[in-house]
Amino acid sequence: MQQLNRQELRQKLVSCSLKATHQRIVVYEALLGLHGHHPAAEEVYRLLKPANPSISLGTVYKILDVFAENGLVRRVFSEQGCKRYDANTMAHSHIYCSNTREIIDFEDPELEELLQGFFQRRNMQNFEMHSFAIQLTGNKKEPDQQVSITKL
Ligand SMILES: [Zn+2]
Repeated sequence: MQQLNRQELRQKLVSCSLKATHQRIVVYEALLGLHGHHPAAEEVYRLLKPANPSISLGTVYKILDVFAENGLVRRVFSEQGCKRYDANTMAHSHIYCSNTREIIDFEDPELEELLQGFFQRRNMQNFEMHSFAIQLTGNKKEPDQQVSITKL
């Protein structure tokens, strides 16, 4: 994900109908900086606190929820039910490792296409689908190694 400067961050917030306050800008910046990491509010707070001593954990929670409600970020749920946040709002799925608690992005156009086709063939009534995502849960066999996916 590209690095945005403060002005671009401000514009991004405004384009989601959000007032670009300083605290919202630094929270969004932190989230983009943690891209691929899917942080919990506490992690964002710990990262911001030294340079922003006036920010509280409650404020970070509130800002992240406002972001999620306005489509600027996505909520991702871990197996423990704890909320994590993702600045990548493009369609993608996740791999959740129970042992390391990592949430790894899983972007696979073939899977997206397959699911799209699947739902098109289902006559779903009284539900307008905006997006879908699958979350794989399991354990890394070697916690120190990266998960690798190769197409056979
Ligand atoms: Zn993600």
